[in-house]
Amino acid sequence: MSENQTEKLVEKDPGPAKDIQDMADLVSLSKRRGFVFPSSEVYGGINACWDYGPLGAELKRNVKDVWWNAMTRRDDIEGIDAAILMHPRVWEASGHVSGFVDPLVDCKTCKGRFRADKLDMAHCGNKPSKKPGEGSDCQLTEPRQFNLMFKTHMGPLEDSASIVYLRPETAQGIYVNFLNVQQSMRQKLPFGIAQIGKAFRNEITPGNFIFRTREFEQMEMQYFVKPGSDMDWFEKWKEQRIQWHLDLGIRKEKLRFHAHGPGELAHYAKAAFDIEYLFPFGWQELEGIHNRSDFDLGRHQEFSGKKLEYFDEEAKERYLPYIVETSVGCDRFLLVALTDAYRSDNERVWLKLHPKLAPFKAAVFPLMKKPELMEYTDKVSAELRKKFRVDRDDSGSIGKRYRRQDEIGTPFGITIDYDTLSNHTVTVRHRDLMTQERIPADKLVQYLDEKIDNWGK
Ligand code: ATP
Repeated sequence: MSENQTEKLVEKDPGPAKDIQDMADLVSLSKRRGFVFPSSEVYGGINACWDYGPLGAELKRNVKDVWWNAMTRRDDIEGIDAAILMHPRVWEASGHVSGFVDPLVDCKTCKGRFRADKLDMAHCGNKPSKKPGEGSDCQLTEPRQFNLMFKTHMGPLEDSASIVYLRPETAQGIYVNFLNVQQSMRQKLPFGIAQIGKAFRNEITPGNFIFRTREFEQMEMQYFVKPGSDMDWFEKWKEQRIQWHLDLGIRKEKLRFHAHGPGELAHYAKAAFDIEYLFPFGWQELEGIHNRSDFDLGRHQEFSGKKLEYFDEEAKERYLPYIVETSVGCDRFLLVALTDAYRSDNERVWLKLHPKLAPFKAAVFPLMKKPELMEYTDKVSAELRKKFRVDRDDSGSIGKRYRRQDEIGTPFGITIDYDTLSNHTVTVRHRDLMTQERIPADKLVQYLDEKIDNWGK
């Protein structure tokens, strides 16, 4: 190979691309490449708590940005950021103190504790591990109700008067601010309030990596509408939300709606659908879309004694709006994005992430560690970094460097070679098809912008 050529990958037949077979592969990649680490690992970890590493934190930030922009770059939705600790009466009004419970069963044999309605996802403590109740010696108790809220105390006294809860959902922070937002932003119905924030649930059986954890982030939007128009808005939001997942490249055949039947429907909900994703461990909830009627505002009005009605200037009447809620776990979506993107063949593992989600939009490589190439690489990275998060890698063969970037989902590899010095063009290599093209170095920002915006179109 002459110095003036960019090395082409030796294209052995890579065989067909395979989807993820085993979640353990994703857990291991996540740890190895800095997406997700077990929390407090040097102390042996803490059950079902995870820390996002450098690439995970970047991916998570991208997820939140994409959601926040989709929600708030429009006239009819405002964003807020409410406190995690709220007045304890909030949780009485919302029904969480009395009703936010899951049925818990104990096994007298293996001493395991399981969620009675999710036994099919649990593993019994005995070896070989089975589902609880499947083994001949399993002795499951009758289910009892277990409240999932984490309690703590406000102030120096740990008495019952000081109990506060870590919020188990972000939605209540929106409901209690409904009039504040409506009046300060002079919004008219229909309008929505969006929020991203931490929620805490003392889940009985967390697990499946970051699928179900005790501390997680939610991205919730509550849309306030005139009663009577609620089912139309419910349908509109169902469509908009599934489209959001599709636009981020999640495969259509891995997504479906699941309607809550009469047995599943929460007492306050008029209608509810989940968007489900087909994980290697089965179809599971990714997002909930609920028509919550006027239950929430009605309850807060009742418990606080403050009127929360909206004055409809056109109709000259006051009423409590109905609420259509869309609620997706940020960590849950991140897991879907990684699971859906994971591909392998005989040659490599790569993450087919949408570039908007990918931690690095591009990686810049000098073909060789020569000062003139390194200097040009620095110039190109500095220019790209004004706009994008970009990696720079000069160690190992170019093939190895491509592989390293494939594994973390970097969509574009940009190589600086000797031709670059003479004609100021660079090689752009595409992650998914491994094709290459030559682009003028001064057009790179525009090129990447267009590719990212038009991805999948
Ligand atoms: P489940 O019945 O599975 O416990 P849920 O129906 O109570 O879940 P919601 O209250 O509707 O869940 O929460 C909205 C979204 O928040 C869920 O669709 C999911 O994406 C996310 N979520 C809920 N609980 C957890 C958790 N323990 N860990 C991670 N994400 C969660």
